[in-house]
Amino acid sequence: MVNFLIFGPPGSGKGTQSVKLAEKFNLTHLSTGDMLRAEIAAGTQLGIKMSSIMSKGELVPDEVVIEMIAAKIDSSKDCAGFLFDGFPRTVAQTVALEKMLNDRGMKINSMLVLDVEHDELVKRLVLRAEQSGRPDDKDPVVIKNRIDVYKAKTEPIIDYCRKRGIYQPINGMGTIEDIFGRLSRNMKKYL
Ligand code: ADP
Repeated sequence: MVNFLIFGPPGSGKGTQSVKLAEKFNLTHLSTGDMLRAEIAAGTQLGIKMSSIMSKGELVPDEVVIEMIAAKIDSSKDCAGFLFDGFPRTVAQTVALEKMLNDRGMKINSMLVLDVEHDELVKRLVLRAEQSGRPDDKDPVVIKNRIDVYKAKTEPIIDYCRKRGIYQPINGMGTIEDIFGRLSRNMKKYL
């Protein structure tokens, strides 16, 4: 099993690229954002509790997403590996993920970080709001908070992974196909 983290600020294109990459390389795509939105859509107790946190652009508690991911790892079979999208988002989540994988004889093989300029991020999120109807994409204050939270809580993971020698920056500007090509070429080295 080969495991990848796809990483980058909100609007960097993680979700779009993950769907394409998972299909191309037979990876199981695990997006905590999608899992949380599914809980909200299903009207579960957890979904109801998490929706107010998400609509402010804050992070849900580490234990919630760690538990979700652990359950999915154990129920996914017959794939070449995992593609983690939007998880981990804190150093504590990263440590938990490493342990989870190590306990199962796996590791994080590579962390692919999409680099996108700030103005382009905001442009993409505003555009996505028109199409997706996601409440956290609509409000510029929430968008700004998500980017601030990313810088404060999520970006430190880059240093953590750099020290482990798995950090791989990718130019996230250009067309979807351009970026897909860059990511694919990189991932092929491991598969
Ligand atoms: P984006 O990357 O576009 O901001 P996501 O769909 O990955 O969007 O996540 C949407 C929201 O879900 C986040 O702003 C956060 O509130 C919550 N969320 C998703 N994944 C995590 C996580 N790993 N830890 C904490 N909160 C999360």
